[in-house]
Amino acid sequence: MIVDCHTHIFEVGRGGPFDLPASAEDLVRAMDKQQVELSVVLPLVGIAGNDFVQQQCAAFSERLIGLYNPDFSVPDETIPKMESFFEQYSPKGLKIHPRYQGVTVKDTVVSEVFHWAHERGVVILVDVFLYGPSLDNPDLHPIAYHRLAQQMPELKMILAHAGGFKIMEAFMVAKSNPNVYLDVSFTPAYFHGSSVADDCGFLIRRLPAGRVLYGSDFPYVPFAESVDRARSLMTDTGDGLSRQFWGDSAAALFGIALK
Ligand SMILES: [Zn+2]
Repeated sequence: MIVDCHTHIFEVGRGGPFDLPASAEDLVRAMDKQQVELSVVLPLVGIAGNDFVQQQCAAFSERLIGLYNPDFSVPDETIPKMESFFEQYSPKGLKIHPRYQGVTVKDTVVSEVFHWAHERGVVILVDVFLYGPSLDNPDLHPIAYHRLAQQMPELKMILAHAGGFKIMEAFMVAKSNPNVYLDVSFTPAYFHGSSVADDCGFLIRRLPAGRVLYGSDFPYVPFAESVDRARSLMTDTGDGLSRQFWGDSAAALFGIALK
C-alpha cells in the first residue's frame, strides 16, 4: 500500500519539465501502474487553483486528496479566504511554496497562517527546495523553520523535498523537532548520482520511523522513476519502517482512513 504525499495536477492538462499529461485522470492512471493507492495533490496558484484541486479530487475521492494553498496576494484577506474555503471543502492540510509565492517565514501573514494551522491541528507541507534568484535567502532555508517548530510543538509540518541540497540541514531540523517531517519527493531524482541522493537513504534510517515520507512530485518526476528510486533507498529497511515510509505515516498526518 503506497500513499504519495506530494503530487501535482495542472489545469492546462500537462506540465513539468517533461511536459507530461498531468490531469487528475492522468495522475490516477500513473498511480495505477505503480500500485499507488492514494495521492495528496498540492494546489499552487497559477498551476492548479484551490477550487480546481478540490473538484478534481472529489471526482476521484477514493484516490486523491487535496490540500489548500493560502493566497498571500492580499495579506489582510489570507486568513478569511482560508477560513471560508475550509468551511466549504475541508481540505486535509496546507501547502505553502514560499519561494514561488514570494513570501518567507519572516512575513507576518505567513506566521499567522502557521499559528492558524497550529490552533486547528492542520498539517502544513512547505517547499524548501532552494533554487534560482532567492537561493541565498536564509529565510527560505530549512533551518528557518526550526524556530516555528519550537514555538508550535503541536504543529506538524513537512519540509518538502527533504531540503534539496540543504538535506543535512533539513535532517537536523527534523532531528531536533519531533513535529517536523521530511518528504523525499524530487530530490533523489534531481540529485541522482550525487551524495545528496544517497543522503535520502540516510535520513530514512536515521530519523525515527514515520518521519520521512514517500512523495513523487509527479509530473516533475515520472512516477515509475520516483517509485524505483524510492525502492532503492528502502533496500534492507525493516517492515515497520517501510510501512511508515510508504504510507502509514502520511495517512496518520492527513487523517486518511486506509483500508
Ligand atoms: Zn512539488
